Amino acid sequence: DVLISQIAAGEVVDRPASVVKELLENALDAGATEITIRIDGGGIQRICIQDNGRGIPRDELTLAVTRHATSKIQSLDELEQVMSLGFRGEALASIASVSQFTLTSFPDGQGCAYSIHNLSGGWHIEPSANSPGTTVDVQSLYFSTPARRKFLKTEQTEFFNCLDVVKRMALANPAVSWLVYRDGKLHSRHQAMPWSTRVFSILDALADGQSKPIDVQAGDMRLHGAVGLPDSARGKGDMQFFYVNGRFVRDKLINHAVRSAYEDVLHGDKYPAFVLFLSLPASEVDVNVHPAKTEVRFRNARAVHQWVRQAIESVLAPSRA
Ligand code: ADP
Ligand code: MG
Repeated sequence: DVLISQIAAGEVVDRPASVVKELLENALDAGATEITIRIDGGGIQRICIQDNGRGIPRDELTLAVTRHATSKIQSLDELEQVMSLGFRGEALASIASVSQFTLTSFPDGQGCAYSIHNLSGGWHIEPSANSPGTTVDVQSLYFSTPARRKFLKTEQTEFFNCLDVVKRMALANPAVSWLVYRDGKLHSRHQAMPWSTRVFSILDALADGQSKPIDVQAGDMRLHGAVGLPDSARGKGDMQFFYVNGRFVRDKLINHAVRSAYEDVLHGDKYPAFVLFLSLPASEVDVNVHPAKTEVRFRNARAVHQWVRQAIESVLAPSRA
């Protein structure tokens, strides 16, 4: 089973940034409003994420680190309705199979915190210290799978990939406070703030009249956010953020729809910054395509493509749409 988990880990948590993503999704799913992220040695040495979410009772710790145990789905039917970020129940087990792993949690109504850690192939639970919420401490990532370790980039690159993940999540969750420590030093912080302030604080390319707000609704579809004006084009690939039902996606169909909307109004081939949130009923979109979950599949792809394109065009070039 450790082997199966290690194989799954290659899929789900192929690098430190994917570990960060899975742990942050869990913290958000647990309703956290304050999240502290510690990254040492590009995350290879250590990733430690602390949240003030609802926590995990002592009796459920073993289950939480067991493959395909998820508290988020009770039946296959529910898979259709998934709105929570995680639902596969393999992230913690996968991460634990390729690291020295400690999960500590202090839920409401329990006398003290308990931690569970992996030691020579078994799980050990003991009383521990923690403020209310959960801390996941992942050390020596991929120490048992050197082949995987070889694929990693420099500590610097891995750290900034982790930071990108935090940025994506911070943009979509402005009511949450985020603290990032790098090698023990405070690196960046995002206090809870209104959405537009959060967007401008992370993407100054959208501040100071360089963007237009967008909020278009049709039936049960809604697209809202901010689109950079054509002249504000900065062209860098890391300023485009698209979310489907709160989940960051990098999807061919969506990219194409956005690019098509910009095409006629754009000078040159550089694309401005944007942050866009598409919401639609969970039954209209399959987020289960790949464990890394940045691709999605729409039930009615053509309609979504056309609608997203038109919605953006109506803001960028009102006369044309
Ligand atoms: P999934 O998120 O797909 O359910 P995970 O392996 O990521 O699977 O997590 C397993 C379970 O552990 C979750 O369903 C949840 O019950 C619990 N869990 C994990 N992280 C946290 C956290 N930060 N706070 C509260 N519960 C958590
Ligand atoms: Mg999860």
